[in-house]
Amino acid sequence: MERSTIVRVHEGLHARPATRFVKLAKGFESDVELVKDGKAVSAKSSVKLMLLAVKENQEVTVRANGADAIEAIEALIGYLENPKAGLDDEAGPQSPANDAGPEAAVAPAAESAPAASGEANGLRGVAASEGVAIGPAFAHFPPDITGQGRTLQAEEIAGEIDRFRAAVAAVQARMDRALAQDSLSAGDRGIVAALRDIAADDSLTGEAEKAIKGGNDAVSAVITAASAIAADFSAVDDHYLNARADDVHAVGRQICLVLLGQDDVSLENIPQGAILIADDIGAWDLARAPLKRIGGVICGHGGATSHIAIIARSHGIPAVLGLGDQINALRTAHDVALDGNTGHVIIDPDEATRADFAGRVEAAANERAGLTAFKTVTPKRADGRVIEVAANIGSLEEIEAAQEAGAMGVGLFRTELLFMRHMHLPSEDMQAETYMALAKAFEPYPVIVRTLDIGGDKPIAGIEFPDEENPFLGWRGIRMCLDRPDIFKRQLRALLRAAVHGNIKVMLPMVSDISEVTRTRALVDECAAELKAEGVPHATFDLGVMIETPAAVLIAPALAKEVAFFSIGTNDLTQYIMAADRLNPTVAKLNDVTNPAVMSAIELTAKAGVAAGIMVGMCGEAAGRPDLIPVFVKMGLTELSMSPASIQRAKKTITAMIAGE
Ligand code: PEP
Ligand code: MG
Repeated sequence: MERSTIVRVHEGLHARPATRFVKLAKGFESDVELVKDGKAVSAKSSVKLMLLAVKENQEVTVRANGADAIEAIEALIGYLENPKAGLDDEAGPQSPANDAGPEAAVAPAAESAPAASGEANGLRGVAASEGVAIGPAFAHFPPDITGQGRTLQAEEIAGEIDRFRAAVAAVQARMDRALAQDSLSAGDRGIVAALRDIAADDSLTGEAEKAIKGGNDAVSAVITAASAIAADFSAVDDHYLNARADDVHAVGRQICLVLLGQDDVSLENIPQGAILIADDIGAWDLARAPLKRIGGVICGHGGATSHIAIIARSHGIPAVLGLGDQINALRTAHDVALDGNTGHVIIDPDEATRADFAGRVEAAANERAGLTAFKTVTPKRADGRVIEVAANIGSLEEIEAAQEAGAMGVGLFRTELLFMRHMHLPSEDMQAETYMALAKAFEPYPVIVRTLDIGGDKPIAGIEFPDEENPFLGWRGIRMCLDRPDIFKRQLRALLRAAVHGNIKVMLPMVSDISEVTRTRALVDECAAELKAEGVPHATFDLGVMIETPAAVLIAPALAKEVAFFSIGTNDLTQYIMAADRLNPTVAKLNDVTNPAVMSAIELTAKAGVAAGIMVGMCGEAAGRPDLIPVFVKMGLTELSMSPASIQRAKKTITAMIAGE
């Protein structure tokens, strides 16, 4: 029997929803298939489901055959139509691999370059994990594994299948042991779990067994099966799924090594501070490697969304990936310097470059070492008032770094990335899930989510922006949102739902008129009433505004009566006060927050906020500047939000300032 429906799973059946769907399907004895465009795949294989590339709003058919077919169809259709009511996911959305799917908000590289572009002073690849490093090259080019290439006799086949199954079981057991280790970080655990899923999936094992039955030796069979599945992943028009091809190869390689009785080329002997150079490193190999000893990573394969990049970022290892064939130029290198911020790689650097890199590495290390003591410090003014030092982040992947740095919550969650990385506008469910994950991660500290701040200079799919002469003075931020209640209400509803966690606050960008606050409030009330009528749990939140236009500064006393807090956006405030485009290097000198005009705007804002008894914070870049922090604290600011890398230094500055008072 079968039933068709329209898929309502946000972004379709990517890894995490696919895993949930499979988990549900496996609970039934019946054979279950999912059919799209005439193509049917087993609903019990997450690899096959992912490769079916089912997108939201597409029509699919669930087909079941067996004793519990009716129940299976009921449950699976129910999940596709209302995924929220499905299984509980034991892995939190912040787990990168299990969060797999485009909603897995992988932080993009700071700067990326097309793969393999040569430059006079070296090579350039994808800047996948920030930081600089210089050290001895550790080339990791394990020999390719090849099958025996002989045809099995009929009587050998059963034995070869047993050998193959034992190898798969050994690999799975090894991965289970790795997962059981407490030392594995949450991010790495998610990645290893994703690899274990592939090893356990009958797409790979089934294809390999078929090839063995056809007379291939097990190693050749695994290579063929893994290559075919990896090629399928590479062919899908989706960056996330493309990166899964590397995972399939990594799992195939592990199975082959067990079959050949070989140990994998070990990274255990990598010298302290060495730069790991490889064409490709399986995430599995990297997750198990002595990461503390690795100074940097350079790879021919990989990009900003590959698991190697995620691991490198979460362990603070600078990485340049995607060098393509130019990686071969590094095979014989003695020393290598890399800049994970720009994607530059320099082979056997000359003395001057060496000295420059060594100086940069040492300065960064010294500073880091001296600052770690401030991670847990809670700066307090003499009157006992806590100064919150919070993080500016734009994706869930940045949570770990912010927590590691000692962030006392989030002072600015930029929601633009959520909207920009998708082919269409993110659903309410997906947004609610993201905001909730954020709130949960930082409880009991506050998390300030900024509503969509986008304009024609950063177009996104799903919103038609007019051509504007001056997009920075145009239809952006709160202006656009109020004109598009369909988009704005979706975000406000998601925020109201996430606010059940209690620590969510919301702020509006680009406010220049009080009516923008009152109109937003009316929409929030409307959304709350809708959610109540629908019986959806929700709660109210504190509503604040960013002070980043001269108009907002000038009406700050009136605005302060309407909102719960101010957050000064010095990046825009400086450009608007100085009438100097923040992106135009020719007027960069004018774009200076320390200009008396900007500093008085900040002071006016602080005075208005303090007089009204509301919190005044700052989330522009200036909030992290040690030379300005004492001035801001004296003005009465009690929250400073900055990039995680600046947090410990800011805590140190505030502590020293208070001690010196
Ligand atoms: C600002 O303008 O200071 C700010 C924090 O917002 P953004 O940089 O995202 O415009
Ligand atoms: Mg701004």
